[in-house]
Amino acid sequence: MPDQQTVEVPIKGMDCAECALHVQQAIAALPGVESVNVFLSSEKAVIRLDPALVDLPTIRKAVEGVGYSVPTSATAQPTPSPLGDFTRRVLALFGIVFGAVLFIVVVGEWLGLFEAFTQRVPWPLGLAVVLIGGYPVFLNVVRATLKGQITSHTLMTLGALAALAVGEWATAVVVVFFMRVGDYAENFTTERARRAVKDLTAMSPQMARVERRGTEHEVPVGEVQVGETVIVRPGERIPVDGEVIGGHATVDQATITGEFMPVEVGPGARIFAATLARLGSLRIRATHVGPDTTFGRVVKMVEEAEAHRAEVQRIADRFSAWYLPIVAGIAALTFLIRRDPLATAAVLVVACSCAFALATPIAMLASIGAGAKRGLLIKGGKYLEALARADVLLIDKTGTLTLGRPQISDILPLNGVPEDDVLALAASAERYSEHPLAEAVRAAARERGLPLYEPEQFEAIPGLGVRARVNGGSIAVGNNRMIAAGAGLNLAPAFESGLEAQGKTLLFVAREGELVGVLAATDTLRPEVPASLAAVRALGARHIELLTGDNERIAAALAESLGVHYRANLLPEDKIAIVREYQANGHAVVMVGDGVNDAPALAQAEVGIAMGAAGTDVAIEAAHIALMRDDWTLVPEVFRIARRTMRVVKLNIAFTAAYNLIGLSLAALGFLPPIFAAAAQSLPDLGILANSSRLLRQK
Ligand code: ADP
Ligand code: MG
Repeated sequence: MPDQQTVEVPIKGMDCAECALHVQQAIAALPGVESVNVFLSSEKAVIRLDPALVDLPTIRKAVEGVGYSVPTSATAQPTPSPLGDFTRRVLALFGIVFGAVLFIVVVGEWLGLFEAFTQRVPWPLGLAVVLIGGYPVFLNVVRATLKGQITSHTLMTLGALAALAVGEWATAVVVVFFMRVGDYAENFTTERARRAVKDLTAMSPQMARVERRGTEHEVPVGEVQVGETVIVRPGERIPVDGEVIGGHATVDQATITGEFMPVEVGPGARIFAATLARLGSLRIRATHVGPDTTFGRVVKMVEEAEAHRAEVQRIADRFSAWYLPIVAGIAALTFLIRRDPLATAAVLVVACSCAFALATPIAMLASIGAGAKRGLLIKGGKYLEALARADVLLIDKTGTLTLGRPQISDILPLNGVPEDDVLALAASAERYSEHPLAEAVRAAARERGLPLYEPEQFEAIPGLGVRARVNGGSIAVGNNRMIAAGAGLNLAPAFESGLEAQGKTLLFVAREGELVGVLAATDTLRPEVPASLAAVRALGARHIELLTGDNERIAAALAESLGVHYRANLLPEDKIAIVREYQANGHAVVMVGDGVNDAPALAQAEVGIAMGAAGTDVAIEAAHIALMRDDWTLVPEVFRIARRTMRVVKLNIAFTAAYNLIGLSLAALGFLPPIFAAAAQSLPDLGILANSSRLLRQK
């Protein structure tokens, strides 16, 4: 629909996975909302809506209706009165101390250490203590119930009521107390997991120094315009993406690339926001600001990574929805069969559904956050999951396996055209091509100081070459298929020259359908490739295949030296077809490319990995995983991260399942008094956190 738009709305107060689900449902139910994604980690909702049917106040009302809030910059939140705040804190402190003391007393009684003095407290007094201690929780439960929602708290409250019914008021108070403890545990866990993402945002500078009408002004980064000149002093973070127009500095680009070795930059260099200038000042012309910078995009994608949920999480979410009714059923059975209200209360209390909902996202968030700090942009748990089971790795050649900086090694002029003219015509035709081979041709012409012409009617033909009108003549530069397709040209001299046998890529140059020369380009294999491929193979990608638009002989030579399969003479659409072919045969395909001319194949693969994506918008958008620096060792690294993450996820789920199963069984059989059940339910979150935190650590 053309009249739809996507808006982002911040949401406050969500501290459990269940909460995000409630907000999601509330917004989705509004008329005019097409889709909505609620992000627990970045505390926002991304909504696709029809602005004619739904507006911000309506959304805010819906969100507030389920107990959360939408902060506004326009209308300030009513600040709680200092006294109110103070009373609340005192009450909370009282609740904690009282709950803890009571817990000790009741456990002591149960072990027979003290006399059973809680039994002697009159019943109405006990009831009053429960109500005072638990009123905030009860209030929430009543609110949720009125909206037809069942939460873990609903069951626990029922448990507390059951305990109360048999006169165990102290048990009821302790249950309420541990509900709060459980909330804190979950809140703490989610907060910790969010931190990896928040740390990332904290690295973008807030202020920029701009030169306006000859004087320097400190302005918030949001106010810098594209094209303005920004000044950066030693030790400062660079506020924008841009081009250096003055000064020299060493720049630590670890924020973007994960590489700690600083790089030297000077006039003409491209530079990224959030990187750190050391030793030296710079004048930069801003090319991208705010969310359009490479760093801005990375942050946004990391924040939204939750939208690409892993299949395991979908299953866990579906299971969570069933879990509470199942627990209620077990409690009912316990009561019917064993007629034991305390055991029934224990069953209701021991159930903690949040742990299931947290098991996957906590681990994914940890890995994605840690990855982003090391130059690995992972766009969602889904891709880590797919990577962990991938068995086919497809690799693009030019710019991916090779350094991507090919050089023209030979020029073979034909039909009496001077060597320099061949090169000048080719370089002019290639002037606006982004292909690495085009850059090689331009560089060769630059080296010889040849004048370039401004091409007219430039056309890039993916996988084949370019065509342009140069100086009034129609020039084509490309491989044999492109040139031969034009007219039955005699390509024999080039083939007889033996250049291809040396592993060189041939670029044929034709003018008005007549061959005027052949250029040979050599490109060097990235040195870390062989070891990285071996590592990836050991990590599960047993079938590795080179896909290239280059010719058969070159592909064969390279593939043989690497010990991989290959297919040559491919057009971009052939690469997509090959990905589909593997998928149809049940394989999970990972494709590594440069992300520029192979973006469609990257998108088609289960996991598309783009190399050296920093600064190339297309690659960052197209790939599922973007490697911010040109380093093949990152490929096995991301496979390793994926496998570790999935191991942690599986352990989290297994642990939660076992814990709850044992807890429920013990409770139903009457071996677990409600008081211990209440204490037990707050622990799995912390177990999940401890297990998942392993993913935050660098190896
Ligand atoms: P790969 O699959 O190896 O990355 P591409 O699909 O990018 O290769 O290109 C395949 C072939 O098409 C190249 O080897 C080259 O012969 C030709 N080609 C593509 N773009 C250009 C260009 N701009 N100039 C000359 N030749 C090109
Ligand atoms: Mg390529």
